[in-house]
Parts: sequence; structure tokens; C-alpha cells
Amino acid sequence: MVKFFTVNTESKTAVHNVTTQVSDQLEGVRDGLAVIYVPHTTASLLICEDDAELREDIVCVAENLLQDCRPFAHIKKNNPNAEAHILSAFSGTSIAIPIADGKLDLGTYQNILLLEMDGPKERKVRVSVLEK
Ligand code: ZN
Repeated sequence: MVKFFTVNTESKTAVHNVTTQVSDQLEGVRDGLAVIYVPHTTASLLICEDDAELREDIVCVAENLLQDCRPFAHIKKNNPNAEAHILSAFSGTSIAIPIADGKLDLGTYQNILLLEMDGPKERKVRVSVLEK
């Protein structure tokens, strides 16, 4: 079964914790695998600890990691979002998490974070649940 939900991001670079929305898609599956995917080229998914300060740090890294590469060649075709494309490709647009006893089998500090790098936009998050 494949489901999806949307996230409206509010700024160019932002981090949204989507763990609860993903968990809400499991629909009674006790054991299996959840594959979470964003069909975008300028957003990605991370598994990370989550708190307000760490979200600030992630935004700072996303905005500055590729600073030495500016200006990007992609701008020649009037596309200002090369950095977002590259970071999305490097950090990944899908993750797989086991489902055990009806819950995502995440570690104590693990959360599923959507990283927006070219917002504000409406982002789709697809969740495929494979039952064992
Ligand atoms: Zn582009």
C-alpha cells in the first residue's frame, strides 16, 4: 500500500519532523518495512535527532556546505537552485525503516526529518508499507 501526505514548508531552507505523519500511515501493519520517499529534486529525507537547536544547525550546514562552489554553473540557465539539487542528491530522497510490533523501529533519538532547500513549497512524502 502506498500513501502520501504533504508538508507546506515556510522558508527557503527548513527542517520538518515528519515522524508522526509517517507513523500515521502504517495502518495496523505489525511487521514489515516502511519506505519513505520524497518525489522532489530540491528536498530530502534525513534520520536524525531532532530539537530546535539541531534544526537550526542543519539549516546552517545546508546553506553553507557548498559555499566554495558558488557561483554554480546551473545559474547560467537562470536556475538558482543548484545547491538544493546537489544537497538533495547527496542526502537522499528515500529511507527505509523496519516496522516492528506495529511501530517504526527507530532508535531512541532517531526522527524522520524532511529537509527543504528550495522553499517555500508544498512537498509530497510517499510512504510504501510492505507487510511481512
Ligand atoms: Zn534547477
